[in-house]
Amino acid sequence: MRFWKKDLLTLSFAILCSFGIQSFTGQYLQESFLFIAICYSLRLIFQVTQLERSLRSDNNNNNNNNNNNNNNNILNPRNSIWEEIQQHIFHADKANKKRQKKLIRIIKKFSKSTAALPDAVVVLGKKNTVDWFNNTAKVVLGLKKKDKGQYILNIIHSPEFINFIQKKEEGAVLTIPSPTQEGISLEIKITAYGKNSYLLVAHDISYLKNIERMRKDFVDNISHELRTPLTVLKGYLETLEEMDEEHPPLLAHSLQQMKKQSDRMQYLTDDLLLLANLETGKSEQNSIDIAALLKTICQESSVLNENKERIQLIRECNQPLLGNLKELHSAFSNLITNALKYSPKNSAVTVRWYKDKEHLILDVIDNGEGISRADLPKITERFYRADVKRTQETRGTGLGLSIVKHVLVRHHAQLKITSQLGKGSTFSCLFKIDP
Ligand code: ADP
Repeated sequence: MRFWKKDLLTLSFAILCSFGIQSFTGQYLQESFLFIAICYSLRLIFQVTQLERSLRSDNNNNNNNNNNNNNNNILNPRNSIWEEIQQHIFHADKANKKRQKKLIRIIKKFSKSTAALPDAVVVLGKKNTVDWFNNTAKVVLGLKKKDKGQYILNIIHSPEFINFIQKKEEGAVLTIPSPTQEGISLEIKITAYGKNSYLLVAHDISYLKNIERMRKDFVDNISHELRTPLTVLKGYLETLEEMDEEHPPLLAHSLQQMKKQSDRMQYLTDDLLLLANLETGKSEQNSIDIAALLKTICQESSVLNENKERIQLIRECNQPLLGNLKELHSAFSNLITNALKYSPKNSAVTVRWYKDKEHLILDVIDNGEGISRADLPKITERFYRADVKRTQETRGTGLGLSIVKHVLVRHHAQLKITSQLGKGSTFSCLFKIDP
């Protein structure tokens, strides 16, 4: 009824006007009514024509989209306007049903393909509710039909996962064991899309983990197995060197070279074993007096040699650090030995232990040859030795900084390196102070 309100009001107004004219002039009532009826009919014809035109153009658009060039929409001169309108409505309805069926087909196809994905896919809504998930998510994440609409954090309780979901950092990746399948490791990524919607994808990386474990086991075993033959070899070499009789020059030189290389092999196996332990072993944590530890390291013969005068130890902080003594000893002595090794014989090396608002910091500063920009990102990689010519003259395995990096990761600390060629380097270890 409300659609007719305007028309009724207009008609009533026109009729009132007719009565007004009649009472004023005493005639023209019938003529006025006739005039109103003609105007109203013309208006209706105009509106119906407009409606027919708009329906026709809608149908034409639909047909063009469907590449269907039938002649249904060409006006038939024998049809009344109402028949035309009825036809247009019928065609529009048919096209809509067709479109609806097509959309349903597409949605079904899409659901089937995502359900068959080898990765687990979960659509998270506002406040991390589970809106949708595929079959793999049921298997590896343990999601069930009744979990739809539930908060994901109430379903997967691992603290790393909770932290990861709450932060939702762009590009961040989390590796966790599958909550339901033993021996399966999942790499989880989260991507934002639309408004307050997130796509969580969990990829099974167990085979990568297995390969990594095999590689570690292999290095670990081989380093272990090499130890005994190496000790025997070194023992014989030392005995030969210590024999009273004078060796011919060639033999003496060979013995010297063999001793040097067997020492190098020993350092390599020791460092490889240490790295393997750092990667797999459990670390016992104690409260450590780092200032005292640094004093001990700086007095050790392996560090000192002829460098007694070179080391300047500054201890500005007494705060103990929770960590593993053996690992920290190894990392710090690597940094100090490097600073002494890669700088001129008479130059000073500063070792400073201090704190700022957020960190306990160890700086090892040298005035050596420095590290080039190109080498800086690579020097913590295993076996990477910058400036081959220079490093060949110094003892080393290329594993020292890898060990430092691993130790710091295990202590949730950061290694910062600033260096300039020809000016020296500063290696900083930053340990976050717990609030
Ligand atoms: P290496 O056993 O060769 O010393 P590291 O892993 O300790 O192995 O160091 C890797 C490389 O980084 C070294 O070969 C050296 O080129 C460079 N490097 C490390 N510390 C310093 C330093 N203080 N000054 C200049 N170069 C350094």
